[in-house]
Amino acid sequence: MNFESASLPRAPRSLMWKTVSEDCNLACDYCYYSTCKGTPGQKIRTIDRDLLETVIRQMMEAGSGGVSFVWQGGEPLLAGLSFFEQVVSFQARYALPHTIISNAVQTNGTLVDKAWAAFFKRYSFLLGVSVDGPRAIHDKRRITGSGAGSYNRVMAGIEELGQAWVPYNILTVLHEDNIERPGELMSWIAENDFSHIQFIPCMDFRSQDATTQGRYLISPRQYGHFLCEVFDIWYEDGDPTLSIRFFDNWLQKLVGLEPELCTHRSTCSSMLVLEQNGDAYPCDFYLDPEHRLGNMRTDTLQQLMTREKWSSFIQAKSRVNDQCRQCRFLHYCQGGCPRNRVGSGSAREAGVDYFCESYSLVYSYGEARMRKLATKVLKREGVKRPPRNAPCLCGSGKKSKVCCGA
Ligand code: SF4
Ligand code: SF4
Repeated sequence: MNFESASLPRAPRSLMWKTVSEDCNLACDYCYYSTCKGTPGQKIRTIDRDLLETVIRQMMEAGSGGVSFVWQGGEPLLAGLSFFEQVVSFQARYALPHTIISNAVQTNGTLVDKAWAAFFKRYSFLLGVSVDGPRAIHDKRRITGSGAGSYNRVMAGIEELGQAWVPYNILTVLHEDNIERPGELMSWIAENDFSHIQFIPCMDFRSQDATTQGRYLISPRQYGHFLCEVFDIWYEDGDPTLSIRFFDNWLQKLVGLEPELCTHRSTCSSMLVLEQNGDAYPCDFYLDPEHRLGNMRTDTLQQLMTREKWSSFIQAKSRVNDQCRQCRFLHYCQGGCPRNRVGSGSAREAGVDYFCESYSLVYSYGEARMRKLATKVLKREGVKRPPRNAPCLCGSGKKSKVCCGA
């Protein structure tokens, strides 16, 4: 059966590539992907030149105006600067006129030096750097193979990025050691002048084994209270200056924009994920044989994108259960992430996101203030509210007069 449809993308919105497969120089105990325990083999697994060229060429041919790449690992910088020079050279060779190319790298930050920072600045890369908070928190879990903390090296890397004016986001995994310390985390963020933050509740599972239910290191209530406390600090009397991804996505929804994060959208991401060897998957959390779409050595991008597995994966998220369907926050939450739905086997797809209580807590706690903020943003941008009887911008399906415009 051919699942091609006008509503499904014909090219991935973005390509995420596991640049060095599981190779990594850190041994964070909660990692959902790497098993090398901080000691990669003598030879780092990198993407071979022919495969790199083929994929970049096809992405450029398929992209209409904009093409986006996310380089992930393991630790992608282990591939070396020459690998990334090859990347930008192929991108320049195959880009159609007026194509906007964006590159993002998700790194543990330990290998960033002046040369890397200059490269990232030159080619306008966006960096995501993982730090779990102040040294005492970070060094408990983000350690080298021999058990040494990585905080000093990460912060030195961040310093290099700052000096070279490379834009970066901070990714902070939430676990037992920092979930009860939102105030301390927010002070640390302010002290270090970080401007863009993403908090990720720790999900202890293996991407390569998508059938097994994740184990969670924090409770839904803990995460909910964390988000509420952070919200109070972030809101700053209706004039927040810090970008926190969860709140940004919520606000996007309230002003009528499509949230950029897949967990806040009505369908899963149309990002294609490639293993270093070219194996293709629909999501970074599902790198198992059942979800393997094919391989970019033998299949074309277009063939992968028209596979039934791809379309059914993207659409599965929108089949939410009764609890979500009746929930007044569904239009914000969209049922969360299917990987976090609780249940076993096919029943999991019909389950509720493990963090449901967290979402309900923060949505009810911050909703009035968030709506005020949305109104302010729309006013500032000169966007008129819909008429009182027209559907509200936030997508709730309610009339504007009884929803955010009320
Ligand atoms: S808050 Fe819970 S019940 Fe409501 S939509 Fe989200 S996961 Fe479903
Ligand atoms: S399963 Fe979760 S992480 Fe993967 S695309 Fe869907 S919402 Fe995003």
